Amino acid sequence: MKVITRFAPSPTGYLHIGGVRTALFNWLFAKNNNGLFKLRIEDTDVKRSTQEAKEAIIKGLKWLQLDWDEDEVYQSKRIKRHKEIGNELLKLGHAYKCYCSPEELTEMREQARKEKRAPRYNGKWRDKDDSEAPNNVKPVIRIKCPQAGSTEINDIVQGNISIKNNELDDFIILRSDGTPTYMLSVVVDDYDMGVTHVIRGDDHFTNTFRQQHIYNALNWPLPKYAHIPLIHGMDGGKLSKRHGALGVDSYDDMGYLQETMLNYLLRLGWSHGDKEIISREEAIKLFNLDSIGKSSAKFDIERLTSLNAYYIENKNNEDLVTAVKNYYTNKKNINIDNEDLTLILNGMNGLKSRARTINELAEMCSFYIEKAPITLDKKSKKVLNDDNISALKLYYKQLLKLEEWNKIKIEEDIKMYCQENNINLGKLAQPLRAAITGKAVSPGLYELMEVLGKSETLARIININN
Ligand code: GLU
Repeated sequence: MKVITRFAPSPTGYLHIGGVRTALFNWLFAKNNNGLFKLRIEDTDVKRSTQEAKEAIIKGLKWLQLDWDEDEVYQSKRIKRHKEIGNELLKLGHAYKCYCSPEELTEMREQARKEKRAPRYNGKWRDKDDSEAPNNVKPVIRIKCPQAGSTEINDIVQGNISIKNNELDDFIILRSDGTPTYMLSVVVDDYDMGVTHVIRGDDHFTNTFRQQHIYNALNWPLPKYAHIPLIHGMDGGKLSKRHGALGVDSYDDMGYLQETMLNYLLRLGWSHGDKEIISREEAIKLFNLDSIGKSSAKFDIERLTSLNAYYIENKNNEDLVTAVKNYYTNKKNINIDNEDLTLILNGMNGLKSRARTINELAEMCSFYIEKAPITLDKKSKKVLNDDNISALKLYYKQLLKLEEWNKIKIEEDIKMYCQENNINLGKLAQPLRAAITGKAVSPGLYELMEVLGKSETLARIININN
């Protein structure tokens, strides 16, 4: 049997961390089994679904390269089919028309509350004949759920869980205007798409008990279920923006790498011993549903950020230069020419171990892009007081004479100059760094002077813009 999984988001908001993790687990499980991963956009809630949210889902999945097989399915385009199955259930006697008015239903709920029962439909129309139907009332269609016994879910993550059938009521499958409910549409779509494994958040667990009865009534084989515990914030509360959890595209915007995101999300609720760093290829080989944890995982933005620093440091320099170039083109509307890109490439080893995000890395590169006189940040302005500027201008005269321009020679030169003139090295190096980079923190001074080249370095010293 070919494994078929699916990701079925409702396009009602941004594609959040929990959603992408569900998509990732489905994708990995399909890949691990040489199966298919399908995408279904559950856009039947016309009021809440937006085009923007649909685009965000597609963009997010594409960013993480969670490619889906076949064209994506739009649930709203399948309503006719859902209705057809709803009516078939009616014809088969597994569903019935219910003519209860809103007032009657409110009363039923009130009654249940008084008796401290869960508010459930009381089955009033289950065995009634249509001839008793009131005039001018359009009925809803309810499925007949078994009233005795219990329903069991054999869940790959949660184990065997059962509830008594008297806790389930005859839920609605077709509304009075004939439109299908979510409960029916999901089952019909999963069946038609050949889904063998439903991997989703455990907030859907109670739906599964109900959906199972639709499968049974239609004699359709049940898919296997894996309900993943939801992700929480560090304080244990439900994950929200407050915990730094945003739409997945925001992480791209903030300079997190796609490979970081993938690795981080994978480890949110799934583990392979204590292995922390797992590439996409390894994840495909290792992923299984049995290693999904039963307790909820916590989203920790600090850990995500340090993982990103790891991936940046280990990424090849050419790719990082491209990322920096894109940052300037897309976010700053600045086009970096090839000469500057070469400087950035040459200086990359000194930069990449210091950046936690691509945005930080790109900002750090600014001193390779600027030309003298460069802008100084607040801290370097402070460092560059009159005394320090005069000291630098004196040293400039010696530096001018240095012929071999590389970090070793530069270092020797500065050290010798300090010794001869009885200057503490820091006293000269600190203003030098400020003048050359415009920043108080930067990669190794001698290395960046080498990368910048002699004439640009000297120009920055003589043209201090303070
Ligand atoms: N559309 C549902 C949601 O976004 C998911 C349905 C499912 O996975 O069965 O929560």
